[in-house]
Amino acid sequence: MAVTIDPALLPELQRYGAFDVAACFNCGNCTAVCPLTDDDATFPRRIIRYAQVGMKAELLASKELWTCYYCGECSETCPRQAEPGEFMAAARRYAIASYDRTRLARTMYLQPVIGTAIAVMLAAVFAMFMYAAHGPQDGSTLALFQFIPSELIHNLGLAVMIVVGLAGLAGIVTMGRHIAKSEGVGWGAVFGGRAALGRSARALWIALGIDSLGQRRYRKDCESVQEPVAWYRRRWLLHALTMWGFLGLFGATIADYGLDLLGVKATGAPVPVWYPVRLLGTVTGAMLIFGTTMLILNRLQKANRSVRKSQSADWTLLSLLWLTGVSGFALELALYLPQAPAWGYWVFLFHVAVAMELVLLAPFMKLAHVVYRPVALFFYSLKPSPSAG
Ligand code: SF4
Ligand code: SF4
Repeated sequence: MAVTIDPALLPELQRYGAFDVAACFNCGNCTAVCPLTDDDATFPRRIIRYAQVGMKAELLASKELWTCYYCGECSETCPRQAEPGEFMAAARRYAIASYDRTRLARTMYLQPVIGTAIAVMLAAVFAMFMYAAHGPQDGSTLALFQFIPSELIHNLGLAVMIVVGLAGLAGIVTMGRHIAKSEGVGWGAVFGGRAALGRSARALWIALGIDSLGQRRYRKDCESVQEPVAWYRRRWLLHALTMWGFLGLFGATIADYGLDLLGVKATGAPVPVWYPVRLLGTVTGAMLIFGTTMLILNRLQKANRSVRKSQSADWTLLSLLWLTGVSGFALELALYLPQAPAWGYWVFLFHVAVAMELVLLAPFMKLAHVVYRPVALFFYSLKPSPSAG
């Protein structure tokens, strides 16, 4: 198969943070120390090689790119200070931007001022749009959905979900086509017959259940080379709490909407704290706040190798996650107070606007790895890399 060389690939990757990878002389130290190398004797230096020679299609089709959780062990041992761990992170940023046809992800990564302005403006637009339809503020009880009608929030949420779904699907299809073409995996290998379906179901379980939700690689392999820290500061745990917290809050919101549609419980109807959907929101909200707070502290303190360098995109995502969690908790507190505090209504408006923005921007920033990583791991489990050196 003919290989297309793109001389602009390396300079482009350097804009995403792969500053020093040109210095790599393919010695293989990073491969020797990487806890994820398995039987693939070419990871991660093969991907570095793609960048050096301009093999853009091959780089974008590298499912192994997404198996790396940036433990930073390879960067510690690289004799050329080529920062292979940082390169892998930069290549993932580049991949997210390349899978997105709107180029919004590229703007978010490469133009931090404009990216931050877009994030702030989006939240303001959502808030103003909802405020334009606001009703009275009840002073005796916190009647949130009298202030902002639940139908408006539901319809706005639905519109956001449709945009996110389409953008996410387009990215997944682009990524899947890159990998499937490079791996020679056709529809038949995934769906053709009982044996293929069985293999696909197993690969899906490993990708989604074991490695993504269960964090197996992060928890076992990456943790094995990390500097010792208190258990509550372990990278895999903070990553897991943030991910489970976000997914749990998202699930609680969808479930609340579903109960409303089924006529079981109207959105906003007062329920005790143990009511399952509310309990799910409270517990996962606490997980999200703890996870993101510690991740922010780790970045501020440069507490481990993987957070020595931070991009503005890292801060944007962590800030949005943290603000969503904290404003949700402040709202919960306001609901428990005997008298309805006026600030509860403004926190509500802020919370909904930021949460909508977070979901809407998900396919265009680092959060997109929530879907790209499982897709790559699916292909990885379906067809592990050859062990050729
Ligand atoms: S250890 Fe450094 S120089 Fe050696 S292959 Fe890896 S990135 Fe290249
Ligand atoms: S950062 Fe860790 S997992 Fe990623 S390539 Fe380097 S050693 Fe391997």
